[in-house]
Amino acid sequence: MKQSYDIVVIGGGTNGLSIACYLAKCGLSVCICEDRAETGGGVENIEPMPGFRIDPHATYLYGAAAPAFEQLELHKFGFRMIHYKNHIGGITSDGRALMYGRGCTEASIESVARFSQKDAEILDAYYTGLLEDPSNMVEYLRSIYWTPPPPAHITLRPEEFPWSLVMKKLGSPLYDPDWNRLSTMELLDMLYESEAVKLTSAMATWYNGPHPCWKGTAIPGMACNDLLWYGGGKPRGGMHSLTHALVRCALHHGVKVFTNCRVEEILMEEGEARGVILSDDAPVKTKKIYADKAVISNAHVKPTFLDLIPARELSADFIERVKGINLKGGSLYVLHIVTTEMPKFIGEADEVFSHGEYPTAVLIDLDSREAMFNMERDVYALNTHPIKPENMLIPFLNQDIFDETVCPKGYHVFSPIYLQVPPPEDHRDGPRAVNDAIEEINGVVIEKIRGVAPNLTDDKIVAVFQNTPYDSSLRNLGFVGGNWMGISQEEEQWYEKKPLPELARYRTPIPNLYLCHQTSYPGGLALQAVSYNLMHILIEDLKIEPGEWWYPSEYFIPSDA
Ligand SMILES: Cc1cc2nc3c(=O)[nH]c(=O)nc-3n(C[C@H](O)[C@H](O)[C@H](O)COP(=O)(O)OP(=O)(O)OC[C@H]3O[C@@H](n4cnc5c(N)ncnc54)[C@H](O)[C@@H]3O)c2cc1C
Repeated sequence: MKQSYDIVVIGGGTNGLSIACYLAKCGLSVCICEDRAETGGGVENIEPMPGFRIDPHATYLYGAAAPAFEQLELHKFGFRMIHYKNHIGGITSDGRALMYGRGCTEASIESVARFSQKDAEILDAYYTGLLEDPSNMVEYLRSIYWTPPPPAHITLRPEEFPWSLVMKKLGSPLYDPDWNRLSTMELLDMLYESEAVKLTSAMATWYNGPHPCWKGTAIPGMACNDLLWYGGGKPRGGMHSLTHALVRCALHHGVKVFTNCRVEEILMEEGEARGVILSDDAPVKTKKIYADKAVISNAHVKPTFLDLIPARELSADFIERVKGINLKGGSLYVLHIVTTEMPKFIGEADEVFSHGEYPTAVLIDLDSREAMFNMERDVYALNTHPIKPENMLIPFLNQDIFDETVCPKGYHVFSPIYLQVPPPEDHRDGPRAVNDAIEEINGVVIEKIRGVAPNLTDDKIVAVFQNTPYDSSLRNLGFVGGNWMGISQEEEQWYEKKPLPELARYRTPIPNLYLCHQTSYPGGLALQAVSYNLMHILIEDLKIEPGEWWYPSEYFIPSDA
């Protein structure tokens, strides 16, 4: 018996689930085929020790400005967000401390002023002045993340980019379209004078977007900071709670969710995507599922074209360019430490943090950018993992004081502590090199933490867990290279060139096949942005008529413009 749906989605990650919800809410019949036993992709939780819940991948939810929360009414499906007051802090080796966050603006500006009065004024002008009205920030963030890139026949000049239009409309005294040509570090050097302030933003950039030294990425680089500022937080219970809400929403709208169903091939007929072919052991009646309107790939762009589609269906040139998509820059070693005590920081940090609530992320070694550059050299040039403390600038995050559900009383979970490492396939000592060095890496990182929090001695550490990029790539087919942002967020793979220019609007050279994975614009992070952006394109192509609940991006440029 032929099994068919209007839409077949390959993969049940956040983007796969949310596009399924959107389309089913429009009245289409939709099924999701997910390889793993669980949906959610990178948005998952594990319990390595009874009662202790950690996020092996995504931990923060920055998507507060995402239209999906309203449009899909996720609160009705159990979604509850914990907003952080104080999203970032840092400590120098001599115990000076800095912190900032939207929920404790005054304390933030005060703490920055102790490093530089000028920087405090800039921060004040930017966050509490221009973007104080939350709707301004929402408009700005949506113009970047929740707006599809322009159609190929339209080339926007920097002053015409949606975010430039918003800044102009808001009358920003600081913003200049020339920022679009800079790296984040160049922009930070222009704006601020204190190294600690610059480094705090630079590290928020590197761990949530492009490397701060990459040319032409200052906007996505700085926007990561704005995502954090506006809506940094996490779903109560951990990131997987977002998956649960999306699955409930999907089921409510009639989506069929098949797990343990690996798609082996995209079913092609007369050059068009017509459905999917599942692995022999898939627990469904027929191994072929037909898609009457579209197949949507929530798989990484590389396997989508290199594994799931027979090579004869694509040009040799296209295949070579897909192979050439750069993965560098998003592979993270993630450490989780369970302790019986909170850190007692050296110097003034405990005192500073207590005024604005403990920061979710404390950066260790805000002294100079040298550690950041050393780490960059190790990872990008020498293709190895940093192992000397002076080559590491790490964030140290506490989860349980924001969400008591993650561990029993009397314990603390510091999670995740991130270290940049190369993608497994690039590592000069082979793909398992980081896994082979786990004990050594954990030892150095813990020593580094003790440098600023000496009370965390061995007897206070109950357990240590880690997740390497190699582990991530085994766990989730979507995490090619264990890369949290899918592909490198460099100038050549950003905006209308992401992941390749002809794929930027989520369409592909294969009719009826669309992309909906973090390897498409705007990229990594569980923002439900790829799915929202793809909706604009599907509305055009499939002549969908969503209900009144739908609103497009104000800055969307239609294909026939
Ligand atoms: C270490 C780390 C830390 C991170 N931290 C954060 C964070 O703090 N905040 C944040 O927002 N984001 C974070 N991220 C990124 C976030 O996890 C991803 O951006 C997000 O999960 C991507 O969602 P997605 O739906 O595009 O893809 P994925 O989550 O990769 O989902 C793709 C799904 O498709 C399935 N699939 C793939 N191929 C097939 C196939 N052939 N057949 C069937 N199913 C298939 C996969 O199993 C997977 O479930 C982090 C990622 C990592 C690795």
